[in-house]
Amino acid sequence: MKDTTKHKGLRNKLVDILIAQGIESKKVLDAIRSIPRHFFLDSSFEHLAYQNNAFPIGNDQTISQPFTVAFQTELLNIQPGDKILEIGTGSGYQAAVLCKMGAEVFSIERHAPLMRKAQLLLQKLNLRVKTKFGDGYKGWPEQAPFDKMIVTCGAPIVPDELMKQLKIGGIMVIPVGEDVQTMKCIIKKDEDKIEIIDFGDFRFVPMLKNKAK
Ligand code: SAH
Repeated sequence: MKDTTKHKGLRNKLVDILIAQGIESKKVLDAIRSIPRHFFLDSSFEHLAYQNNAFPIGNDQTISQPFTVAFQTELLNIQPGDKILEIGTGSGYQAAVLCKMGAEVFSIERHAPLMRKAQLLLQKLNLRVKTKFGDGYKGWPEQAPFDKMIVTCGAPIVPDELMKQLKIGGIMVIPVGEDVQTMKCIIKKDEDKIEIIDFGDFRFVPMLKNKAK
């Protein structure tokens, strides 16, 4: 695995595209500039890694489009030391971006082979993300509460268990819907009070229930 000046040049171009699409956070853009996305794709897609597209990563899953990663990460307003729960580790790319920004990242994946592959790669890159094989609907109670949560699969509903494991004042960024999802930024104001802001339509692979395999 090599990260060449050509790869770095392609990343700079990708960042220019993200800026043109409205991403403003320098911290988010810097993280995307520094993480070699081509490491997270199969070698047959390596030459396409810096296009602003989603790609297959095996097990019928996809690595999210860079714009989507940047958009969700910007909404999370990451501060160093934030304890974050990600649902849907997939390739590990989104977790890598969060980790690079100084967050303490916990990530759950329901496909064991994807989880293991992502964990190995993150270790190689010296990014300390804690991964778990399991059902994201249940969250990670042993590590709760979390400052922030990011769901990277399309959720039919906002899972109760996740809301419970979010700190008061915490933020959850979650795409909600069946075929098309609305990106929602949910702020937990109090145990029984939330504020929801909608941010347009996205398409994710579905968040599946009770089927960890
Ligand atoms: N964040 C990933 C995107 C992966 S796509 C990346 O950067 O590459 C979404 C992932 O969510 C898939 O890998 C899928 O297997 C996983 N997923 C779907 N339902 C889930 C659930 N209930 N619990 C945990 N992971 C789930």
